[in-house]
Amino acid sequence: MSDCVFCAIANKEIPSTIVYEDDEVLAFEDLNPQLPVHTLIIPKAHYRNIGDDVPPALLGTLFATVKKVAELKGVIESGYRVIVNTGEDGRQTVHHLHIHVLGGARMPIRMGPAD
Ligand code: 5GP
Ligand code: ZN
Repeated sequence: MSDCVFCAIANKEIPSTIVYEDDEVLAFEDLNPQLPVHTLIIPKAHYRNIGDDVPPALLGTLFATVKKVAELKGVIESGYRVIVNTGEDGRQTVHHLHIHVLGGARMPIRMGPAD
């Protein structure tokens, strides 16, 4: 999809620090990490969000990639958090489906109140 930053990353038109790649998915470091480990996993094909009729097999591949990334980033034992921000209230800012894998430090205990 034109003018989608994550499509551009998937197509290697924009550089990224790649953590894992196969035919269907790409995992790369977040530009603005919120924790010591902050890796994003995307499908190479463009889907706006997790509700965008994503084939179930691809959803399985994406979530299987979470464990691979956690292994590669060394947080399997220490733990990590998986976040999929979706739509306006979910504060999704890049409208190409992506999974955040966050770890390497203790999370804030819980979310704050809505604003
Ligand atoms: P969202 O809020 O949509 O769930 O998260 C989008 C994430 O993409 C943010 O954490 C942001 O730092 C990251 N991001 C936005 N643009 C780029 C980019 O060009 N390269 C990389 N590596 N990450 C990006
Ligand atoms: Zn895209």
